[in-house]
Amino acid sequence: MKQTIKEVDVQGKRVLMRVDFNVPIRDGEITDDRRIQMALPTIQTVLERGGKVTLMSHLGRPSGNGYEAEFSLKPVAVRLSELLNEDVSFDESSDKAVVLRENLRFDSREKAGDEAFGASLAEGCDIYCNDAFGTAHRNHASMVAVPQQMEGKPRVAGLLLEKELKYLDESIRNAEPPFVAVLGGAKVSDKLGAIERLIGTVDSIVIGGAMAYTLLAAQGVHIGNSLVEEELIAQSKEMLEVAGAKGTTIHLPFDHVCAPEIAAESAAVVESGDIPDGLMGLDIGPETTSAFADICERAKTIVWNGPMGVFECPAFSKGTKGVANAIGNATEKGAVSIVGGGDSAAAIAQFGLETKMTHISTGGGASLQMLEGKEFLSVSLLDDTV
Ligand code: ADP
Ligand code: MG
Repeated sequence: MKQTIKEVDVQGKRVLMRVDFNVPIRDGEITDDRRIQMALPTIQTVLERGGKVTLMSHLGRPSGNGYEAEFSLKPVAVRLSELLNEDVSFDESSDKAVVLRENLRFDSREKAGDEAFGASLAEGCDIYCNDAFGTAHRNHASMVAVPQQMEGKPRVAGLLLEKELKYLDESIRNAEPPFVAVLGGAKVSDKLGAIERLIGTVDSIVIGGAMAYTLLAAQGVHIGNSLVEEELIAQSKEMLEVAGAKGTTIHLPFDHVCAPEIAAESAAVVESGDIPDGLMGLDIGPETTSAFADICERAKTIVWNGPMGVFECPAFSKGTKGVANAIGNATEKGAVSIVGGGDSAAAIAQFGLETKMTHISTGGGASLQMLEGKEFLSVSLLDDTV
């Protein structure tokens, strides 16, 4: 377990806090300020206890060759000031209670993880706090070089990072069985690492989405024109065999909602077993949905990453919705449900099921890497609880 900001004395200290203020901005206006809102509790716990904060974040993808107005954090400073009801200084040499540094990625040394850049960021700060889970898998200067430079000073997790680690790491390592993983989405290549780690750890893996078709092809099922990663068929076959030997049951779809192409107006038909040529599997079928829902409803721990179909089109959203509802029901009965993946989170929001899940991760790439069991240097540098 990692020490958190709540556990350190911040009175009279300046906390250098890596936050995720990478919010969508259009024509200088923030279109969704949830990331700023979510950072408030970590900032406020410092201010309430007499500490000061220097906040740092990236925003978008500037070139790294200096200031670009389009990627300035200025609108964030304004919004943050309103939300905190406190002055936010945009001058990094200021001694105000809340200072926001300009976009870290204006300097190419941020992404390069440069030590000297890390040292310059750390200057004048007494405590390091990481609350940017979405970037935790990246060894950027603000994530790694800074805490390395601040060795000997307290280096702690913010409240958002604490929650992500609690669910994506501890809950998964100490999962109560039956432990079910629900995987889907676009590509099996994205999720092979996660499947390989989960085999032998979970009781069953339920697989839908486009990635299911590569696995079905590996089993010799005819998949028509469904998306497939030919180069991964052999590896998928091997993986299915290993799963059997290690006591993890892999459930694949056995009926499918199909159409000639991915288009809302494309006429949907249900096919069981083989899919005829000319049709693509775009959602798990009704029988599969009810079988997958059953498995989820009986689970005590569920991790979900990747939608079961092209949920963006109503005609191909029923599988994802059915499974999401079942996970919500299981959670209501006491199961722990952990959702990762940007599109999965979007699907849950589309169905209005956000409050039914135990934890919806804010970090797509980072959450998938946690599922793969990877250790993050940015996290390992933070102090352990004693
Ligand atoms: P996440 O962001 O949750 O990790 P992914 O990015 O892996 O999920 O995949 C999401 C995308 O996969 C969605 O845009 C969805 O439309 C697409 N998808 C799901 N099932 C299929 C399918 N059977 N055929 C084509 N695309 C699919
Ligand atoms: Mg995605």
